[in-house]
Amino acid sequence: MKNKNFYVSDAQSENEYDAIVVGSGISGGWAAKELTEKGLKTLVLERGRDVKHGEDYKTEHMPPWEAEFRGRGDRKLFEEEYPRQLRSDVINEYNYHFFVNDKKHPYQTDEEDPFLWVRGYQVGGRSLTWGRQVYRWSDLDFEANAKEGIAVDWPIRYEDIAPWYDYVEEFIGVSGQEEGLDHLPDGNFLPPMDLNCVEQDVKEKIENNFEYRYLTIGRCAVLTEPHKGRGACHYCGPCSRGCSVGAYFSSQSSTLPAARNTGNLTLRPNSIVDSIIYDKETNRAKGVRVIDRLTKETKEYHAKVIFLNASALGSTQIMLNSTSDAFPNGIANSSGVMGHYLMDHHFRVGASGTFEGYEDRYYKGNRPNGIYIPRFRNINEETKHDEFIRGYGFQGRASRASWGRGTSMDGFGKEFKEKLRDPGPWNFGMTAFGEILPYEDNHVTLSEETDEWGLPQLEIHASINENEEKMREDMAETAAEMLEAAGGKNVSPYFGEYLVGEGIHEMGTARMGRDPETSVLNAHNQTHDVPNLFVTDGACMTSAACQNPSLTYMALTARAVDYAVDELNKGNI
Ligand SMILES: Cc1cc2nc3c(=O)[nH]c(=O)nc-3n(C[C@H](O)[C@H](O)[C@H](O)COP(=O)(O)OP(=O)(O)OC[C@H]3O[C@@H](n4cnc5c(N)ncnc54)[C@H](O)[C@@H]3O)c2cc1C
Ligand code: SF4
Repeated sequence: MKNKNFYVSDAQSENEYDAIVVGSGISGGWAAKELTEKGLKTLVLERGRDVKHGEDYKTEHMPPWEAEFRGRGDRKLFEEEYPRQLRSDVINEYNYHFFVNDKKHPYQTDEEDPFLWVRGYQVGGRSLTWGRQVYRWSDLDFEANAKEGIAVDWPIRYEDIAPWYDYVEEFIGVSGQEEGLDHLPDGNFLPPMDLNCVEQDVKEKIENNFEYRYLTIGRCAVLTEPHKGRGACHYCGPCSRGCSVGAYFSSQSSTLPAARNTGNLTLRPNSIVDSIIYDKETNRAKGVRVIDRLTKETKEYHAKVIFLNASALGSTQIMLNSTSDAFPNGIANSSGVMGHYLMDHHFRVGASGTFEGYEDRYYKGNRPNGIYIPRFRNINEETKHDEFIRGYGFQGRASRASWGRGTSMDGFGKEFKEKLRDPGPWNFGMTAFGEILPYEDNHVTLSEETDEWGLPQLEIHASINENEEKMREDMAETAAEMLEAAGGKNVSPYFGEYLVGEGIHEMGTARMGRDPETSVLNAHNQTHDVPNLFVTDGACMTSAACQNPSLTYMALTARAVDYAVDELNKGNI
């Protein structure tokens, strides 16, 4: 019989479970769903507060005139307490409660070259605020390290993960257009969102002028038709405040309800996992130590299998902090590579231009999605670039300037206001997301400094190198050349400063690999050293590719749970 309380499964002793999942964000939600659906009594430990679907999206439909700072937020508060989230350009008055207060959650980094760590500490993690872009990886990505002699080889190939991409896409609902590209495999798509008139024309001109360059509508985890009890998107726009119809994928709209419906889920918010308890006799992770966020009391929870999904750096922080005689440098770190090979996607380079001749055309609503130009550098012999390896893709959109353009226009009075009632010129902007290579020097360690709960802070060092710098020059050039070829006017490339982490795709630090001496995780995201400990968030990544990574975390998570439960049933773990 299911427990009446959605969040607490029945038949559980207070501290003993079949499985523990640390973190309830994109990957943790998936681990919870898969483990509970396979019948395991599962405890999800989440360091942040609870956020209930719908009920806790307090600003979802708040108009600017009801917001104290008209939506911009309290700049003084942001500068003093949220400086890193502010610098990453993701917070505003309506959504900042879904991002961490930097002052309360400090970490150490270089003053000159700071790492920007963008986090969401609450039930649902960053699934509430993510951009929802989802792209498959291909063997171009999984084979790259081996072919180029970089870092270590991925222990999996596309055929290993492809069925799991199918499985995840089918559940979350991904709208997109099939393009038949080998290096950006098609998925199980719901109907695509429409390109607007300028995007459609730019697409045709790019594809006619450049070989191997294509423009497609973004593939995104937003529903274009009702799906599994969730409503279709109605193009209202402000997704990062939460979506009570569940039109975009979040832990709240999708995976946690599925886990809850099994009756096997216990979700404990406000539970900061400090470390993993290791049992030397059995060589197993016995459980976790938890600090209550509010009372600071400590507790232990035990389980047969543990999944770490505290986000790439959160999971690594927990492992580094789990020391014992057997693992003086952190649990499952016999290789010594834990903490190293931190990656992200570099961006803030692109171009924009205006497009004339479409003044009588418009579009409907606020489409929560843009366009995508898949990678076209180094995808085969013909597209090899002399100065860098790997590649980048572009994201962007065409839109008409709204009344807000008045803030940078001369004028006043009735006539001025009337002018702003009409939509402004068409503009097309695009930004590249580029691959960062896995460098040993880009790493995290535990600092001597602790936080309010006595946990050692992370110390993060990361920068980009020559390969990325050369790629950035090319990004600006190709963005501008495509917009010019498409008939854009006043085309201007832009070249912004990029800090590692700003891509909000931080990954690596507990990489997968074939060899226990040079990697932390095997082909099933199981630590080489401790068989019942799995890590399936971004920490596992062996290289970064240039596609947004969360779909891959979800597919790897579902695949790893399938393996773990099978091993558990066979008595191997
Ligand atoms: C504005 C924005 C746009 C983005 N756009 C995209 C996109 O378009 N496509 C894409 O693929 N990705 C995107 N991302 C990145 C994406 O959100 C992350 O890749 C994804 O959320 C990672 O999933 P996760 O489960 O590893 O971590 P999270 O979703 O961050 O969840 C981790 C959870 O673990 C909890 N936790 C951390 N430490 C502990 C601890 N010690 N004890 C207990 N709990 C802990 C956290 O509170 C959190 O709830 C975007 C992110 C942001 C912020
Ligand atoms: S635009 Fe669509 S996905 Fe975003 S909040 Fe509105 S309905 Fe939800």
